[in-house]
Amino acid sequence: MKTSTSQSLFAEAQRLIPGGVNSPVRACKSVGCDPRFILRAAGARIFDADGNEYIDFIGSWGPMILGHNHPAVLEAIRQAMANGTSFGAPCPLEVELAAMVTDALPSVDMVRFVNSGTEATMSAVRLARGYTGRKVIVKFDGCYHGHADSFLVKAGSGIITLGIPGSPGVPDDIVRNTISIPYNNEEILEKTLRDSALDIACVIVEPVAGNMGVVLPAPGFLEKLRALTSELGIVLIFDEVITGFRVSYGGAQQKFNIMPDLTCLGKIIGGGLPVGAYGGKKEIMSLISPLGPVYQAGTLSGNPLAMAAGVATLKALQEPGFYDRLERKAAGFADSLQQLAAKYLAEATLNRQGSVMTLFFGPGPISDFDSAMRADAAKYARFYREMLELGIYLAPSQFEGMFLSAAHTSEDLAKTLEMTEWSFKKIQN
Ligand SMILES: *Cc1c(COP(=O)(O)O)cnc(C)c1O
Repeated sequence: MKTSTSQSLFAEAQRLIPGGVNSPVRACKSVGCDPRFILRAAGARIFDADGNEYIDFIGSWGPMILGHNHPAVLEAIRQAMANGTSFGAPCPLEVELAAMVTDALPSVDMVRFVNSGTEATMSAVRLARGYTGRKVIVKFDGCYHGHADSFLVKAGSGIITLGIPGSPGVPDDIVRNTISIPYNNEEILEKTLRDSALDIACVIVEPVAGNMGVVLPAPGFLEKLRALTSELGIVLIFDEVITGFRVSYGGAQQKFNIMPDLTCLGKIIGGGLPVGAYGGKKEIMSLISPLGPVYQAGTLSGNPLAMAAGVATLKALQEPGFYDRLERKAAGFADSLQQLAAKYLAEATLNRQGSVMTLFFGPGPISDFDSAMRADAAKYARFYREMLELGIYLAPSQFEGMFLSAAHTSEDLAKTLEMTEWSFKKIQN
């Protein structure tokens, strides 16, 4: 496979941009190769600067649930663009998307749009602190909630991928107010919350964890979390930046039938443009400026192009049977993948929720950060490199999800399985 154009772009990028990338995992360091520079994408395919074609299982890390360049989304952006790209004033599309989001998520009475998932979680925590008058936040080891200071304690995503404990530049004073505990451990959860109840503003959780690889909530875990936080007057924040409109139209809260107090969204609601959102109960959301005293703002927030892409995406997701079809496709693919893994790998564990899954190169069950860490990341790296050469574009880290979209055809998936078998054979020993 020719990669000289990507190589020279990467050399130039490294001179100009730290590490040559604008988000760390993209540098592909943990899988031991250089990134391919992407020129364009269509459906389930992406094409790099050297003209190589790949079947894409990253989907821009989740937003592209319809596939790349969905015609209805492109058309909506085109129409919005003809009217101007940013006004810094309210626009009709914001109201339309807000109505769709509040209809989709029964726990959300009001929603505020921002420009990224990071902004959504950061703002939700500020709001929870403002609402409760308490300082401490509780999160779970291996969950990722964007790159705001308070969350960079035992965080997932690039922090795990690069094997760094936290981040310099985050003052001790800030992380002192963050408690990180194991995912899926009800005993530690209960003890932690009861011991510090009067100081804890919120618990933030990925209701299905997606940033230490996919890790499902154990039966009863989210229920316990809801019951305890309600009892102790702690705000429960579901970070549904990945799961929102992914695991069902109403996100994980609909799937598991648990109502959080606040919800963070991102990725899919922007249809591939930069959008985040946080929303929840009216009583809490009413504290946000200018209705209340908790300040949060954004020059480009509610941007008309981004809102148009979001509205068009959600409309497409409302098509009857959309999630059932995606589930069937993902389930069939996962079954075959698991059979191949059982045949060729000594140890493998597949975790899946709907159309997002992780094949861990390690023993199961994988239910938290420590069990995820038992996976053989070096073996995954070899697998990744084989697959890339065969035209299959996977996440460049063992600790990320594999995203299926409506655009993956049965031929795409059959080809992927064929290449997987080929790659497993090569890395067997
Ligand atoms: C991606 C992600 C974020 C951060 O969103 P950005 O748009 O990258 O800032 C937050 N929470 C979760 C669960 C995510 O997966």
